[in-house]
Amino acid sequence: MIQAIKKQIERIKAKGATYVDTRWYPFEESNQLLMLNGNLKDASSTRESGIGIRVLYKGAWGFTASSDMSDLAALFNRAFDNARVAAERVTFPIRLAEKDAVQASFTSPCEVDPFEVPLAEKVAFLKDMDTKLNQEGVFLRMGGLNFVRKHIVFADSEGSEIEKHVTEVFAELQVRGQDAQGTSQERKFRLGQQGAGTRGWESIDRNLFLENAERIVREMKQVLSADDCPKEDRSVILLPGIMYLQTHETIGHALELDRILGYELAFAGGSFVTLDDFGKLRYGSEKLTARADATVINSPGSFGYDDDGIPAQNVTLIDKGILVGAITGRQMVEEANAKSKRQIFKGSGGANRATAFYRVPIERMTNINIDPGTDGTLDDIVAKTEKGIILDGDRSWSIGSNREQFHFATEIGWLVDDGKVIKVVKNSTYKGPTVKFWNSLSAVGDRSTWEVRYVDNCGKGQPNQTMQLGHGIPVCRFDNVRIGE
Ligand SMILES: [Zn+2]
Repeated sequence: MIQAIKKQIERIKAKGATYVDTRWYPFEESNQLLMLNGNLKDASSTRESGIGIRVLYKGAWGFTASSDMSDLAALFNRAFDNARVAAERVTFPIRLAEKDAVQASFTSPCEVDPFEVPLAEKVAFLKDMDTKLNQEGVFLRMGGLNFVRKHIVFADSEGSEIEKHVTEVFAELQVRGQDAQGTSQERKFRLGQQGAGTRGWESIDRNLFLENAERIVREMKQVLSADDCPKEDRSVILLPGIMYLQTHETIGHALELDRILGYELAFAGGSFVTLDDFGKLRYGSEKLTARADATVINSPGSFGYDDDGIPAQNVTLIDKGILVGAITGRQMVEEANAKSKRQIFKGSGGANRATAFYRVPIERMTNINIDPGTDGTLDDIVAKTEKGIILDGDRSWSIGSNREQFHFATEIGWLVDDGKVIKVVKNSTYKGPTVKFWNSLSAVGDRSTWEVRYVDNCGKGQPNQTMQLGHGIPVCRFDNVRIGE
């Protein structure tokens, strides 16, 4: 098949195309299980295969995709014709940043293929977790498993040929209860890692999940009988269960270069960041160094090569507080450099990805990480906090249309006074203007506080593309933040 594809790429190139690439998916499979209050609510599987073809002609993209690969020539002709029609209307001719041709392969780290594990074993795991979660005060208990496996072969007209085998494992436990006011309270546990190791069925570690099942029930019960979060200004200490979302929404999405250039405006909003800001904007305090790092060994944000065929990169986004980089692909870096009349970006950051063979790649987060700092462990940070609140677990979130401000509610809060944890509070919230908030970053935890959180449901694009990625984040403290309203 790959020889036939390469022959077609050459044929379309000979017709005048500037660039052609294809992503052939021999298969992509998913398997989802959901147990709700002891009942298996969902056990579904999907399997699809096909090819997506991009053709660049006279500065315009043409795309087509199909599961039926019996007439490859017709498919390639359609992609070329689409590009020809688009070329008549193009306002800003597309150019692609230079890249080297690569012949390579990538396999994500996996010991036990979750698709080889019998259904009965997966259901038994969820049943055990359900038994553990089934305690007094819990009115809803949920266990979810989500597995993805795909085989992708990329080829382009510049001589690249890349084969990828990717396996993903996502898992979540959740409990809900009702407080005296009738408000639903919740606590979750999601599988994450330290950035090393593997992510096959072996990462569904029974003991790890049992310990966390016990913990989330205990913490949710504490929330049920807790006082409300006070309305005042305090330092907020964000644990990874909310720090990942803070990073995702106010650094990750804000720094997607296509969004900065205005391409997402109609869908999920723009970004307050402008091209002038690169190299200048003080995005955070000196303690903040953030990166888009697709080289983390074990994370769904590490995929070897992006859908432009660019090898995984570790790109600095914010260097000691100063904005220096963005989440980029080959097309947008050229457009940004041209529009700003300076070379902000030296080349693609390797972050152009499509969710399926039948979608076009767009700029997506890889692993949007924050470097561990020098302020010690969580206990060290708490001990040096006069008036604060520790927050964990995403409960609700709302973001300004250009991500210039945010409001997050968390599952749990622990008030801190004079360096000591005083009590648990419920209905905890915090809010702020994005740049002012990151500039109030006053403590960054060390490596012991740093975790990679997996995200399997990041949405972007029209039509929507759901993407898997990661966030490697430490515990962080921010000062003078409005909480409780
Ligand atoms: Zn997202």
